[in-house]
Amino acid sequence: QATIQSAVPAPIDDGAGERIAARVRELRAVFASGRTKPIDWRRAQLRRLRALLVEERPALERALKADLGKSPVEAHTTEIGFVVNEIDHTLKNLASWLRPKRVAVPMAMAPARARTVREPLGTVLVISPWNYPINLALAPLVGAVAAGNTVVLKPSELSPATSALLAELLPRYLDTEAIAVIEGGVPESTALLEQHFDHIFYTGNAQVARIVMAAAVKHLTPVTLELGGKSPAIVEPGVDLATTARRLVWGKFTNAGQTCVAPDYVLAIGDTADTLQKELGAAITEMFGEDPKASPDYGRIVNERHFDRLTALLEGGTVVAGGRGDREDLYLAPTILGDVTADTPVMAEEIFGPILPVLRVPDLDAAIAFVNERDKPLALYAFTESDTTKRRLTTETSSGGLGFGLPIAHLAVPDLPFGGVGESGMGAYHSSASIDTFSHVKSVLDKSLALDTMRLAYAPITDLKERI
Ligand code: NAD
Repeated sequence: QATIQSAVPAPIDDGAGERIAARVRELRAVFASGRTKPIDWRRAQLRRLRALLVEERPALERALKADLGKSPVEAHTTEIGFVVNEIDHTLKNLASWLRPKRVAVPMAMAPARARTVREPLGTVLVISPWNYPINLALAPLVGAVAAGNTVVLKPSELSPATSALLAELLPRYLDTEAIAVIEGGVPESTALLEQHFDHIFYTGNAQVARIVMAAAVKHLTPVTLELGGKSPAIVEPGVDLATTARRLVWGKFTNAGQTCVAPDYVLAIGDTADTLQKELGAAITEMFGEDPKASPDYGRIVNERHFDRLTALLEGGTVVAGGRGDREDLYLAPTILGDVTADTPVMAEEIFGPILPVLRVPDLDAAIAFVNERDKPLALYAFTESDTTKRRLTTETSSGGLGFGLPIAHLAVPDLPFGGVGESGMGAYHSSASIDTFSHVKSVLDKSLALDTMRLAYAPITDLKERI
């Protein structure tokens, strides 16, 4: 707690702080005017955002290359195209998601009608991180706008090229009076968190999440916290280890391992570890060549601080593949660490980089116990063909998401809500889950005054009324 408090800096100077406060006041006034409520306004904004993503794709790709060395293909599949799909799915389904839902009325109140209606919350704040700086800024924005809110988006200062580009492009395409981009780091975030929002949607690490949640207390603002943690991958004996290895390598080394749902470590059951490690090495060579540094498909570490943190994590295990880095180029090879145990340093924190440790466990019971002794992860993966194992993992463990046979991809299934549990977060979004997050579900009861069937409920309560 003390460290968290001391991490909170003094707010920025009054001029900048007042500008932020004034901007939020304007957004609140625009929401109050009712402008963002009609579905036509929401749809128009989503279409404009789609146009931005299509027309400005080259500039967006350049920014992602500058910030994270992302290849154009990865930029498209995990960021730009991802958000386009989210918009298309939302445009197609928005009317039905927003439709009021009738519910039955108890006999004692009949005749009457009851329904739920969705109303926007008001002015919401979206704070996004650097690792998927377009996806994790704009996918929440899609939900916030589709639900009819005015929005402040605060992109991460650690992906500066993307942050600057979003600040330039969003006002060119979207309704600037309803959607604001405020750039900056901790001082700006701190000033924003002092304002009154109707929802705060934060993606990032769990320490800052505590600061966000503490700030939200002041206005009783609900929060969605999309966090991370160590997502395990369990590998059972008897499965196709070559395919397992390829899928693990794909899931782990996309974006150089800087993915919240990347498999953090492998729990290899029984005698699978040795063969699996060889197959993992082979899959790395197959996908990124003998020298992954030269691969156009392999990204870079976001900055020197994270590079140094990651290279320090190499201590303790045996490098089975990779292990080399180049600080100048922020390159760290896709690395497999063997001989790792629970007390090796790499197991003490979320890795969030291209290092995959393999731990040996005797059986499924031990794997489940290992998972359950730790914080609830954002994702749990298992490579198994056994329905019994799948059933046991579904009921005996808790995680934000659960993937059998394929890591990270569950978040790209449009109608699966995406979110964490416990230390990996609270709340969820994507598709209709975003509408749930950014709306209030209002209960409406409607009874005509024409015929007073409520007389039985009124005092005085006579014997006859009681018998009925
Ligand atoms: P980051 O450093 O970019 O921080 C996230 C945001 O928080 C930024 O906009 C930053 O400006 C802001 N911030 C930082 N300090 C703050 C403070 N004191 N007060 C208010 N705001 C502050 O990103 P990060 O935290 O390094 O992101 C990595 C973490 O995020 C990992 O744990 C990862 O697993 C998690 N993550 C989760 C998801 C998800 O969808 N669940 C996605 C991506 C990343």
